[in-house]
Amino acid sequence: MKIGIAGAGIGGLSAAALLADDGHQVTLFDQFAAPGPVGSGLILQPVGLEVLDAFEAGEVARGLGQPILRMEGYEAQNGIRVLDVSYGATPERQGLGIHRAALFDTLYEAAKTRAIPVETDARVTGREGPYLLIADRKAGPFDLIIDACGAGSLLSPLRARPLPYGAVWATVPWPEGTPLKLDQLSQVYRQADRMLGVLPVGQMSEGGEALAAVFYSLRTDQVEAWTAQDFEAWKDAATALWPELGPFLAPLTNHDAFTVASYTHGTMRQPWASGIAHIGDAAHRTSPQLGQGANMALLDARALQLALRRDRGDDALRHYAAARWGHVRAYQAMSAAFTPQYQSDSRVLPILRDRLLAPLSRTWPTRRVLTRLVCGDLLPPLGGLTPRPPRTPRARA
Ligand SMILES: Cc1cc2nc3c(=O)[nH]c(=O)nc-3n(C[C@H](O)[C@H](O)[C@H](O)COP(=O)(O)OP(=O)(O)OC[C@H]3O[C@@H](n4cnc5c(N)ncnc54)[C@H](O)[C@@H]3O)c2cc1C
Repeated sequence: MKIGIAGAGIGGLSAAALLADDGHQVTLFDQFAAPGPVGSGLILQPVGLEVLDAFEAGEVARGLGQPILRMEGYEAQNGIRVLDVSYGATPERQGLGIHRAALFDTLYEAAKTRAIPVETDARVTGREGPYLLIADRKAGPFDLIIDACGAGSLLSPLRARPLPYGAVWATVPWPEGTPLKLDQLSQVYRQADRMLGVLPVGQMSEGGEALAAVFYSLRTDQVEAWTAQDFEAWKDAATALWPELGPFLAPLTNHDAFTVASYTHGTMRQPWASGIAHIGDAAHRTSPQLGQGANMALLDARALQLALRRDRGDDALRHYAAARWGHVRAYQAMSAAFTPQYQSDSRVLPILRDRLLAPLSRTWPTRRVLTRLVCGDLLPPLGGLTPRPPRTPRARA
């Protein structure tokens, strides 16, 4: 098939590599002038890493990222351990903290290796049947268009609900002598109106220095006030709340080191229409509380590849949507339930979180459920399209 992919981000680049491997003729279009990611770090979960393995990008990502074995978070005022989730014991069941630039480079390299054309400066504004509309020209015709334009997609009919809280993110060197563990995501909360975190994200290129993504939650309507605030005074206040954060903030001298992120929540009822499939944030978006967004985009790309191996046309798109339906909905619902416990103005939810849910999370079987939840496979992520393991010949008696 001749496939046009709008958006060369995590989902778009992965879909391009997977579909090119199946012999499809793929072209990518992105609005960026030169290829490059924005933002700081993220966690790739085991289900997302499996997708990278499907087009041989997993090893490169693992070589750059930092294995994450645990997520731990404390309430700053009462000292209660609110979050304590361990990954599995084996490397296949661990998360991977990775810088967005390192992940982008890995995926972009996969596209380049396959000689997939990437048209830059190509802002997709809509589609007309099999054509993509790009400024004053049309590209196509394509047998299939994939919308991988992320949360700002102009092709997607999804209108998502803005969430009241976002965060500011920065990348810093991992400081020597910090008591924080290099193999865990560490967080501190003040009720639900403040969340500070340190995520180890490995290195930008092989042999580079170890890095961390630091984040600080803010109401979106307070970003302007935060930017106007004296930077050193803000650093002192953040460090008073979490002293271990001090060495991470030390190299930062002004607000410009931070990227502001705002979040929305919404899910498309049907992530396709005749001739077009929506994947990743274009189809469903939420806060990064469960750390699943990139994985969801990767799983969508893989499901679409597997659906196109079975069928053509609308039947394939129907299969793609059906395979992802339960997993997407379950994770969107859980993200909607968890987010206000960590990022909201509620006074009641953090009390419930600290006094009821935190002790519950340390009991069996909740511990195991939470591990599956963060790994991304609490439900089968590819539904009926799950590839069967190769049969091993039975030993003769
Ligand atoms: C601060 C933050 C932290 C996060 N942390 C995590 C985490 O720990 N784990 C996790 O799994 N997820 C995390 N996420 C979510 C994750 O980043 C997204 O879900 C993921 O990037 C979605 O991938 P995508 O391919 O759909 O979109 P994107 O990766 O956003 O890519 C979209 C691409 O489309 C291009 N584009 C946009 N509009 C147009 C247009 N009109 N024309 C042409 N091109 C266009 C953009 O330039 C971009 O290259 C986080 C998100 C944020 C904001």
